[in-house]
Amino acid sequence: MPTKQTMYYVGFCRVCKTGPLGLRCCGQCGNIVLLCDECDAVWSDADLAAPPQYAQGGDLPCPACEASLIERPSHWATEEQIQNVDWLQEAIHTGALELKQGTAFAPDAEDDESPERPASGG
Ligand SMILES: [Zn+2]
Ligand SMILES: [Zn+2]
Repeated sequence: MPTKQTMYYVGFCRVCKTGPLGLRCCGQCGNIVLLCDECDAVWSDADLAAPPQYAQGGDLPCPACEASLIERPSHWATEEQIQNVDWLQEAIHTGALELKQGTAFAPDAEDDESPERPASGG
């Protein structure tokens, strides 16, 4: 059966007005951006009034390292990763963004092996 992907999002896209703005984590450099799950608009920080970037030729380069934000190993950010992003935490604390938990819209559930996670000691 397909596995549901948990996606944290911070509201809805002002461009298409229907897509949730998911927190997408670059698999190469760990940079986190706001990615509309519907129209693939991307904001690289909490300033949603700024014009977004869009996918180019079906791919979406990371603003920091230009690796693909769509292809693996890029993924929806985990709660732990979100907590490490200063601008996100600041925006959440000031109420500019509201962190919510949802499920990724993408119907193509990934079916092969999940990446190995190193056990983090506490
Ligand atoms: Zn959108
Ligand atoms: Zn990157």
